[in-house]
Amino acid sequence: MKKTDFRKILFGISNWCVFFLLAAFVVTCCMILFLNIMSDTLGITFTEENISTAAKLTFANVIVISLLFTAIDTIRRKVMVDRPTKRITDAGKKLTDGDFSVRIKKLGDNHAYESFNSIIDCFNKMAEELGSVETLRSDFISNVSHELKTPLAVIQNYGTMLQSHELSEEKRIEYAKGVTDNSRRLASLITNILKLNKLENQQIFPANERFDLGEQLCENLLQFEDIWEQKNIGIETKIEDDIYIYSDTELLSLVWGNLLSNAFKFTESGGRVGVSLTADEKYAVVRISDTGCGISAETGSHIFEKFYQGDTSHATQGNGLGLALVKRVVDIMQGEISVESEVGKGSTFTVKLRRGEGVGMEKAD
Ligand code: ADP
Repeated sequence: MKKTDFRKILFGISNWCVFFLLAAFVVTCCMILFLNIMSDTLGITFTEENISTAAKLTFANVIVISLLFTAIDTIRRKVMVDRPTKRITDAGKKLTDGDFSVRIKKLGDNHAYESFNSIIDCFNKMAEELGSVETLRSDFISNVSHELKTPLAVIQNYGTMLQSHELSEEKRIEYAKGVTDNSRRLASLITNILKLNKLENQQIFPANERFDLGEQLCENLLQFEDIWEQKNIGIETKIEDDIYIYSDTELLSLVWGNLLSNAFKFTESGGRVGVSLTADEKYAVVRISDTGCGISAETGSHIFEKFYQGDTSHATQGNGLGLALVKRVVDIMQGEISVESEVGKGSTFTVKLRRGEGVGMEKAD
């Protein structure tokens, strides 16, 4: 006999014992009461024979009643406890085996099932959450592998071509440049993935310091001087002086770098890129605008997603992680980011940042 079967039998016997003792107690009390009333009020005297028959009858009654209660309790337990528990444990097993589509059907409106139904609700929500996390994870992995494979394949090709002996100087330089550009793209992709991963697990910025936001914007803008000169892009700045905020300089620099890089990337030669900064007591508002290709409503609803690239003609110049990084930083800083755009006319990204409280965060005199 299996250990579990033996336990079940033991459980059945103990269950019956409980009901037997209960029924014996109740019936004995009733009998004593009944006998007392009979002898007091009706003056009936009980003989030994009478009492022995009554005792036998009572004992038989106790056995039948306790057996009946045990049977009713077993059925009740099976329906009300074992069945829902089995449903939940079966679903739990499926979930542990990686089936995130599993959901448990509710047990009906019966009040007795209320606790089980709330467990089922929690389970279903957990399964849904796990399912979407798993989808995100697998999408992320397939996106990363795809993004890594593309430049690697290009580098391999250029490498093979560079091995040829009859290569003109011009071709050699072209292929070597191809290798360098794609290695750079690969390095930037890996850096961005690592940054994003770090930011997704980070909630606090220990590196908060007080700095001049306008100055930081100008420094970031100047890093694109070569590009705006090359593309003959006009620059318009409207930056209020002495706007100080408390924040993480490095991470905010990442925000401006990405927004500006996109503005210059998506603006054709002869266009304009603008940077403005305004502030009140509580907030600093930065606007980065361009007269580039613009963003359609459909593209606009996805631009902050990881690896999303709306404009594929510039795909090799990015990896679709820039705005996901920007959004993550702004979110952790409890700021807001929005975009207004018109296809063919240009886009304006607006970032609203809290300046915090205290003397250090007020506009400096
Ligand atoms: P990447 O620039 O590397 O493609 P991003 O996350 O920075 O990735 O941007 C996602 C998408 O948002 C881009 O592919 C592009 O379609 C759109 N986008 C972002 N900034 C601009 C902009 N200033 N003008 C037009 N489209 C933009």
